[in-house]
Amino acid sequence: MPLNGLEGISYAYGLNHYTLDKPLKDLLKLYTQSKNDFTGLGKFVGKEVYESTYRVDLESLPRLIYWGAKGERVDYTWLDPYERYVVNELIMNYGVNRYPFDNGTWHDHYAGIYLIGDPGLSCILTITIQTAYALNKYAEGNLRDEYKNLVGLSNKLKLGATWFTETQGGSDLGANTTIAKRTEKKYLLNGYKYFSSGAGIADISLVSARPEKSKEGAKGLALYLLPRYNSKGELNYYIRRLKYKSGTNSVPTGEVELINSEADLIGKEEEGIYYIMEDLTVSRLANAIGAMGVARKAYLEALGFSRERSAFGKKIIEHPLMIRDLLDMEISIEGGLALTYKAINEFQNSINSRPPYTKEYHYARFLTHIAKNVTAELSSKITQLAMEAFGGIGFLNEFPIERWHREALITPIWEGTSNIQALDMLESMVKKKAHEVYLEDLKSLVNDSYDKEFTTKLLNKAVDILKSFSSLSPKEAEYNSKDFLRQQGHILSSILLNNLAKQTEDNIYDLISKQYYRVYIEKKELDMIDKYDEIISIHGSI
Ligand SMILES: Cc1cc2nc3c(=O)[nH]c(=O)nc-3n(C[C@H](O)[C@H](O)[C@H](O)COP(=O)(O)OP(=O)(O)OC[C@H]3O[C@@H](n4cnc5c(N)ncnc54)[C@H](O)[C@@H]3O)c2cc1C
Repeated sequence: MPLNGLEGISYAYGLNHYTLDKPLKDLLKLYTQSKNDFTGLGKFVGKEVYESTYRVDLESLPRLIYWGAKGERVDYTWLDPYERYVVNELIMNYGVNRYPFDNGTWHDHYAGIYLIGDPGLSCILTITIQTAYALNKYAEGNLRDEYKNLVGLSNKLKLGATWFTETQGGSDLGANTTIAKRTEKKYLLNGYKYFSSGAGIADISLVSARPEKSKEGAKGLALYLLPRYNSKGELNYYIRRLKYKSGTNSVPTGEVELINSEADLIGKEEEGIYYIMEDLTVSRLANAIGAMGVARKAYLEALGFSRERSAFGKKIIEHPLMIRDLLDMEISIEGGLALTYKAINEFQNSINSRPPYTKEYHYARFLTHIAKNVTAELSSKITQLAMEAFGGIGFLNEFPIERWHREALITPIWEGTSNIQALDMLESMVKKKAHEVYLEDLKSLVNDSYDKEFTTKLLNKAVDILKSFSSLSPKEAEYNSKDFLRQQGHILSSILLNNLAKQTEDNIYDLISKQYYRVYIEKKELDMIDKYDEIISIHGSI
């Protein structure tokens, strides 16, 4: 890396990623009365976070250290010291994980994840806050108090992790075979966790396991807290290896072998799968907002480059087709952001709900599945377009733009693939009638929108699609569920953007909502519009 950081090879580097992001600021204002200010974080992510994650990906990958100086197994992961510093700052100084537990909300936390952008780094924060979430909500006594160490509410920072996936299946959690045997004080776990992010850096980890003689399938899973060292101070599990990955390199992902590993039960054995699903809602929302964070970084790179690069006698940003690409990217980001913040808001509103849960919680889950898939698709598309904006150098891994497309490609896969999101959404409709709350909510959003004639048309379309989907056989519904999810997601995004126009009194959002609708629902080309300049400069911010 050049001594002067990324100057000259990156157009997002050195910017304040918060102050330039009007849509983020508008959404935070809409949903929270919070006085939290992200200006400092916006600067930090544009410099230190940008530099350190680029460096880790290109030349300083995490490394597994197996043996200590005395010849004993130590199994820890070496992280680049710059990255360690950044993680510490994000949690202890900028308080990204603290907001939901102290002086803020989940909206604030997810703003942090969005601003960080890098999925590997965001993963470290997410698996840590997921651990805190489960402990805070379902554990008791000293075990519960551990959550404070994970969110920067004590002086001692600990990192968490969530290890559910096994070799025989990540989607099919019910196929988990890790066994938990009860002893006098602790549980002893035996099994093998095949994808374990945070392996070798996590101090405590959430692990799914099957108590002896429990039910078959997912309902027989309980949730445990696994410390890195057992009660004798010895290594509590082994790490077989770290995986070599296409992206997300800031987080080590390993394979963990549990051999009589001591753990504590969290909450009630029979409710384990519910806690796991709640925790997955936390990470799926992180995935959705993170997908838009990645897209925003790529967009900033493309916008900066287009303003400087010339071809055919003028800057490439002056060519109509480049304007069209940038418009397409910006409109897509704003739609994805609006959708994700709506899901985050519903999650926040149902935060105290417990098994068997309220209808608000099921609605939050329904929206989370939708946001997770829609944003993953948008992110893959936006980062591809941004990479192309750089021409040939976009394909060179020495420039940061190339990484963003690689990073975007994880978002449809982890935290449950797109197929699994569609199936889970379907389940929330069939078993919990989540779509009924959705339709009611759509109506109130329409009532409060900028152009009611336009949004009423969208509402009617959502109802028609729902009607024909409801008439399908179970097998047909499963087959069509991903399309249904996508259509509802895009309709909701258009309505939300239009609603934002009214709430913020910024009629540019009205224009954006209509263009979003045109591209993603009508499947037509973007219109040539007058105000393109203002939109592609992120609403005139930069
Ligand atoms: C970088 C990385 C880090 C990860 N970190 C963690 C971690 O920290 N903790 C953790 O627990 N997991 C982690 N995972 C695992 C991840 O969540 C799983 O890989 C993912 O959920 C998919 O599971 P799988 O790989 O077993 O694929 P499978 O479940 O085998 O799926 C294979 C394909 O089959 C499809 N499929 C499966 N069932 C159905 C169905 N019923 N209908 C239609 N299609 C179906 C899937 O969509 C997929 O396309 C990580 C993965 C990666 C890549």
